[in-house]
Amino acid sequence: MIIILKQNADKEKVQGLLHSLEEQGLTCHRSDGAHTTIIGLVGDTSRVDINSLRANDTVEDVKRVSEPYKAANRKFHPDDTVVTVGEARFGGTHFSAIAGPCSVETEEQIIEVARAVKASGAKLLRGGAFKPRTSPYAFQGLHAEGLELLLLAKKETGLPIVSEIMDLSHLELFRDVDVIQVGARNMQNFEMLKALGHCGKPILLKRGLANTIEEFLMSAEYILAGGNEQVILCERGIRTFETATRNTLDISAIPLLKHHSHLPVVVDPSHAAGIPWLVEPLAKAAVAAGADGLMIEVHNNPKAALCDGAQSLTPAQFDSVMKKIKAQLAFEGRML
Ligand code: PEP
Ligand code: MN
Repeated sequence: MIIILKQNADKEKVQGLLHSLEEQGLTCHRSDGAHTTIIGLVGDTSRVDINSLRANDTVEDVKRVSEPYKAANRKFHPDDTVVTVGEARFGGTHFSAIAGPCSVETEEQIIEVARAVKASGAKLLRGGAFKPRTSPYAFQGLHAEGLELLLLAKKETGLPIVSEIMDLSHLELFRDVDVIQVGARNMQNFEMLKALGHCGKPILLKRGLANTIEEFLMSAEYILAGGNEQVILCERGIRTFETATRNTLDISAIPLLKHHSHLPVVVDPSHAAGIPWLVEPLAKAAVAAGADGLMIEVHNNPKAALCDGAQSLTPAQFDSVMKKIKAQLAFEGRML
């Protein structure tokens, strides 16, 4: 349920109203917009008397929210949420690029890639230290050492870092990681989502391989419900019958998510495509559909990569994509 307050509503009366709602066991999320203030109510609102709320002289209107996600709902928070990490900003009029290898392999590799992607305009460095691999015999990542190498690359370049967590018992290892990624395979690891709701760091939440938009937003809701409002949604392609691509990029997810939610939406064309030359057209399509950022896999030697080399761009290819994206954003009046 949302309460739209009257403009210039008496502050003390509003406090009294919030207090009485909280006494009924409800949590109030306040959103102060440019023109309106909205109070989103979370909890069992079935016994709330809408008519008496409407009669309150601080209240303009009251509406029920039918969707199961509340804090992630745009009705609760009409303005776009902007997530800021170093110089990176996602949401509203802000667009940023995240780039780096699928997995951190060596000091030379991660530093070389970090320098290159920074020079091309990326504002965040990605790199997996814990890798969710289909085969137990495939490279699983460098674990704690991988995170240390990422921190070294951050020190060298100043780029904040994003890395995937696969198990909550590793959370302490992520204390200096700027953004924690929840991978597609963990999108519905609800205990993990609950814990990340209290971690105080921005979360890059990837859409599950076969999850609906509503399920995706419900997973974001878990993080928001814990009090962490810094959630970036990432569309990375879904499973369909199509085998020509690794996944199928769900372009409609971008405007749909932005319509239903205030959270920023980033697109990962690398995992969606699985093919390097498809990354550019998918990235352009994502920008045209309103994405707030891109996450692209870049490797200094894709042929020798220990993970996802087949979809990685070289630094030169990434630079060329970024030039085109910059021009496209400028045409739209947005900036990279
Ligand atoms: C990744 O970002 O390297 C990754 C494993 O992605 P996803 O969880 O989307 O498959
Ligand atoms: Mn990958």
